Amino acid sequence: MSRQSINLTDNLYNYLLSVSLREVPILQRLRDETADHPLGEMQIAPEQGQFFALLVELIGARNILEIGVFTGYSSLSLALALPQDGRLVACDNDDESTQTARAYWAEAGVADKVDFHLGAALDTLNCLLDEGHAETFDMAFIDADKENYHHYYEKCLLLLRQGGLILIDNVLWSGRPADAAEQDSATSAIREFNQRLYVDDRVSLSMLPLADGVTLAVKC
Ligand code: SAH
Ligand code: CA
Repeated sequence: MSRQSINLTDNLYNYLLSVSLREVPILQRLRDETADHPLGEMQIAPEQGQFFALLVELIGARNILEIGVFTGYSSLSLALALPQDGRLVACDNDDESTQTARAYWAEAGVADKVDFHLGAALDTLNCLLDEGHAETFDMAFIDADKENYHHYYEKCLLLLRQGGLILIDNVLWSGRPADAAEQDSATSAIREFNQRLYVDDRVSLSMLPLADGVTLAVKC
C-alpha cells in the first residue's frame, strides 16, 4: 500500500501526459506562446487545466470566478468547460499579459462567456458583493498575488453558494512553505494561509500535490 504521493520523475510525468492529457489545439498553442513569456512559469500546468475542466463538469458549474488571469491558460480551460450560458468573471490588474488572454478567448469563441475586470482583484470582488452577487458563484480559482490570498479566500467564501468549490493554486510554492528558513513575503503568506485553512471548519478541505500544489475547499 502506498503511503504517499508518487514522486514524478520527468519520464513518469511525460508518461502521465502521454496517456491522459487531452489538450485541444488552441490551448496547446496558448501554452507554447506563454512558454516564451518571461513570466511563463506562472501559468498552471496543462493537466491541472484539464482537472479543473473536469471539476467544472462534475459540479455542473455555471458561474465561476477567476482571480489571476495572466495570458489566459486557466481561464480558457475553465471557459471551454462551461456550458454556453455559463459565465466566468475573470480578474487581473495587468493590461499587457491579459491582451493575450482576451485574444484567445475571442479566437476560441468563448469571449461571450467571459466578463473581464481589469484592476485590483480585491476591488472587483468588493464590487461584486456590493452589486448583490453574494452566494451566486459555483466555483472560484485563486491564483493572483500570494499576500492577498487570505482576503481573496474570505471574499470568495461570501461570493460562493453553499457547496461551492474554491481552488487555490501554488499552495506548495516550490516546497518553500515547508522550509522554515524561507521567510520572503509570498512564502510566509502561503504558509500562514495554509495553516489558517487547515483549521477553518467553514470548508471541507483537500490539498493535492498537483503541479505546484492545489487546495480544494468546499463551502459547507
Ligand atoms: N491563472 C494564470 C496565472 C496567473 S499569474 C494562468 O494559469 O495562466 C498571477 C496573475 O495575478 C498575474 O497575471 C498578475 O497580473 C495578477 N495579479 C497580481 N496581483 C494582482 C492584484 N492585486 N489584482 C489583480 N490581479 C493581480
Ligand atoms: Ca499559479
